Amino acid sequence: MINVLEVKNLTVQVETGKKILQNISFKIENNSVYVLIGPNGSGKSTLAYALMGLPRYKVVSGKIFFQGKDITKLAVDKRAKMGLCLGWQEPVYLEGIKVLDFIKAGAEKVSLKKIEESLSLVGLDSSILGRVLDRSLSGGERKRIELASLIVLNPKLMILDEPDAGLDIIIYREFYNILENIKKQTKTAILLITHREEIGFMASQAIFLNQGRIVCQGNFNEVMKKYCETSQRKKICQKATCPKNF
Ligand code: ADP
Ligand code: MG
Repeated sequence: MINVLEVKNLTVQVETGKKILQNISFKIENNSVYVLIGPNGSGKSTLAYALMGLPRYKVVSGKIFFQGKDITKLAVDKRAKMGLCLGWQEPVYLEGIKVLDFIKAGAEKVSLKKIEESLSLVGLDSSILGRVLDRSLSGGERKRIELASLIVLNPKLMILDEPDAGLDIIIYREFYNILENIKKQTKTAILLITHREEIGFMASQAIFLNQGRIVCQGNFNEVMKKYCETSQRKKICQKATCPKNF
């Protein structure tokens, strides 16, 4: 099995009956990094939620295969047990609880050794476990803790919804290095929702979504170029945030 995920002609609607995603098809290879890009409101988070199986997002037609198995009708917890997990776009909700309890909330039976290994992968040590999840932790630390809480689940595919959105520009590269480290050590694949061109150093493929449909997909640089050419991004790209060969 070379693809951890295969999505075939997926159409998704919300409670109001509005179709948010239309006819989405793509594959993600094992242990690879795919980027999902697109303007605000294009349906990126909806795709993440639908893949994860959140009940509000109804699959009207199409199928989702995870490690070759049809998971289209499986509940969220079953998908999580199979190794599919999601890092939310919004900051963690469990504000005020201890870091150790936060990590254990998703993985009750996880050993302390596994937790420490996961923390080490994200560049933290076990002294953080007794801290409380609140504003006394930096944005970067909270992101790392979130990542560690996913790693303890032994993911085969991590979907990360704009994990870099709140990060300082200086620490992007450091954050991406952590992601690369996770990919190498855990062999998980990553579907990363981001607007940042900097991720190109480790992303193999990208998918460009607009108005709930895939505009193009394939080689990261090619897709990012196409994305940059769309009107909203042109000015930003001309300010040389894009690599020179764009
Ligand atoms: P993105 O993550 O790309 O910014 P979203 O997936 O959050 O986009 O949203 C895509 C579109 O779907 C938006 O127009 C949004 O308002 C709409 N949408 C998402 N969830 C719901 C919902 N539960 N009910 C109604 N509209 C929704
Ligand atoms: Mg979103």
